[in-house]
Amino acid sequence: MYLIPISAFADNYLWLLHDGKRALVVDPGDAAPVLQALEQHALQLDSILVTHHHQDHTGGVEALRKACGAKVYGPATEQIPQPFTPLHDGDTVHTLGLDFHILEVPGHTAGHIAFYTPFCNFDGSIKPLLFCGDTLFSGGCGRLFEGTPTQMLSSLDKLAALPGDTVVCCAHEYTLSNLRFALAVEPGNADLAAYQARCVHLREEGRPTLPTSIAQELLINPFLRTRQPSVAAAARRFDPSVHDDNTVFAAVRQWKNQFK
Ligand code: ZN
Ligand code: FE
Repeated sequence: MYLIPISAFADNYLWLLHDGKRALVVDPGDAAPVLQALEQHALQLDSILVTHHHQDHTGGVEALRKACGAKVYGPATEQIPQPFTPLHDGDTVHTLGLDFHILEVPGHTAGHIAFYTPFCNFDGSIKPLLFCGDTLFSGGCGRLFEGTPTQMLSSLDKLAALPGDTVVCCAHEYTLSNLRFALAVEPGNADLAAYQARCVHLREEGRPTLPTSIAQELLINPFLRTRQPSVAAAARRFDPSVHDDNTVFAAVRQWKNQFK
């Protein structure tokens, strides 16, 4: 399988996964760049996977369905363009010869889902693959528009429990600004400083910092590290009232919201 991050809007990635003939796209906020990529690689679009209802993830669904006849899969409890196959936690989507397991990951939106397959063959190397929409970003996580910090922490816990070598496809290129914040939380994290240097270099060359991996994020992402003493201590400096995992997480999220 081949994985292509299609750039759209200011900083979205519309992920295209294909086997040389057939393709799926995740969260197509815009149809035009997807149609262009399909034509360029002579691909037939089989399926459209949607993680949540926001316009920058669904704006191209109708046009792509019309143009390609692709099947649409999305979260059962969110308003996305009809008709689509509604998905719940534990469901499986079979497409392109892969089985994607559905994880409900509320927080950014109330019904947000992620698509996970344990076995994806990339040029002979078999890896787990995750499409996580706006739940997990490299160095960060989605804003809590419809969910509570407790919900988001438990959603991120589900993702953090996936195998370390999982290829993680996030929907936005927010990495550098996330890492500036991450370094304010953990100035002594050497893995974080090294990762930032690599990401700065990638962006200078105009390349994506994504996909990332679960193992990488566990080393550097403050939102997956709220149980680390260094992160909990920083959260307590921001908000002296923090006293457990959920309040540490809530404080770090609040700190990030106001971080400049
Ligand atoms: Zn969103
Ligand atoms: Fe988004």
